[in-house]
Amino acid sequence: MNGTATAYQQDYFQRVRRRTLPIQGMAPLALLVAAWVDAGLTGTPVLSGVRALALPIGIAVLVVLMAVQSRADTIHAHGWWTIALLCSAELALAFIVTPDPDTLYWILPVLMVVPVAAAPFWVWPSRAIVSSLLCYACAVTALLRAGPDARSLWVFAGYAALFSCTSLAIFRSIDRLRRSAYEFQVNLDHEAKHDALTGLLSRRRFLQLGEAAHREATGADAPFSLCFMDLDHFKIINDVHGHAAGDRALSRTAALMLARRPPDALVARMGGEEFVMLLPRADASAAARFADGLREALAQTEMGGFTVSMSAGIAEHLPGEALGETLHRADTALLEAKQRGRNRVEVAPG
Ligand code: GH3
Ligand code: MG
Ligand code: MG
Repeated sequence: MNGTATAYQQDYFQRVRRRTLPIQGMAPLALLVAAWVDAGLTGTPVLSGVRALALPIGIAVLVVLMAVQSRADTIHAHGWWTIALLCSAELALAFIVTPDPDTLYWILPVLMVVPVAAAPFWVWPSRAIVSSLLCYACAVTALLRAGPDARSLWVFAGYAALFSCTSLAIFRSIDRLRRSAYEFQVNLDHEAKHDALTGLLSRRRFLQLGEAAHREATGADAPFSLCFMDLDHFKIINDVHGHAAGDRALSRTAALMLARRPPDALVARMGGEEFVMLLPRADASAAARFADGLREALAQTEMGGFTVSMSAGIAEHLPGEALGETLHRADTALLEAKQRGRNRVEVAPG
């Protein structure tokens, strides 16, 4: 009935979970207010008769349910505990009030409006529907205690149907708005962090993640190396084969890099036909071996009637060196590779 939660539902669940406790904390307070209003209307003491039992038991049950619910960390469990909590609050309310028609005038709307008020908070529509039905079953309890005539029951059934549809409509429209806002935010976030043509990390994101990897490597006293790569004579490729073919070559080069990189390496397009890779735990010679393998594989990759070659510069991070300085040394080594004839790998001196 519920399937597996999507990323959107998980994300929304985490947000709503933080707010449920303060909101539901109002339930015991509402019970007290209801007992007080009812006592004022009927002129009976707050804790007398059935209320003497129903009020404290109701509040205790709610507090226990809230405590259990706050520990539920899956959407599935959280949803069912929320339904149990809503129904308990409604049942307690139905039992603390005096069963006479005057009281019903104010208690029934309260019981019926709860599913509407709760509608925006559900993650799955099935939960919104089940909770509505159960809440109205609790309201029927209050109604039956007052010994209603047939007309009152029909009126109640009509309102219950109206409020159910309203709460479902509220749930669906708010859920759609929330979902599209979430998808917009995820797309925006992805676009800000990735290069549109190749899908590799953007320069900005690479520098952010690179700083984190730099801190981690420094803390663990582990080496890491940077590999700066640039495609050779790419301007000529564009001129001879066209810009679209150049774009295709850039995408295929990126795919090759992603396929061959170590699992925790960071790969970014720094701009144009320049790429950079951060290789954790790799010293200069391991990084140079990797880059040379990549260079050979690229030279043999068919780009649609032509091949491209690349030059690369390697720099192993030195103790105390900032990420930008290592990057600069890798860039200088790349320049050296270009000057020495291209299609080769050069290692920056340590
Ligand atoms: P070198 O071997 O010295 O690196 O020569 P090069 O021609 O590769 O270097 P240069 O920097 O002169 O030219 C880079 C070319 O890359 C120029 C530009 O048209 C092309 N380029 C940059 N970004 C893109 C892109 O997104 N798509 C395509 N098709 N070409 C691009
Ligand atoms: Mg180039
Ligand atoms: Mg270039």
